[in-house]
Amino acid sequence: MNIDKSQLNYSWQEIANLTHETQVDIFGWCSCEEQKQFPYDDCPRKCDDCESEITLTLEAYGNGQLMRIDCPKCGVSYDTNLDPIEGEGN
Ligand SMILES: [Zn+2]
Ligand SMILES: [Zn+2]
Repeated sequence: MNIDKSQLNYSWQEIANLTHETQVDIFGWCSCEEQKQFPYDDCPRKCDDCESEITLTLEAYGNGQLMRIDCPKCGVSYDTNLDPIEGEGN
């Protein structure tokens, strides 16, 4: 019998304790594939353009963090704001 694990109930705590591998196993995808965010330590960190390993740098930014992604090979560099407080105020 085939159990669809993505239909089970997971608490946020359980989801936070997943890894890239278990996340993909359960849900078939990981957010690192769609956004350049790497919620888990074992997310593959590859450059979209040249597939080489990228460098991540975390910097403090406002109340959150800014993640800088650099590809040493093709020189691509961009920022991702990891500020967890979004849409506050107004
Ligand atoms: Zn991932
Ligand atoms: Zn590259």
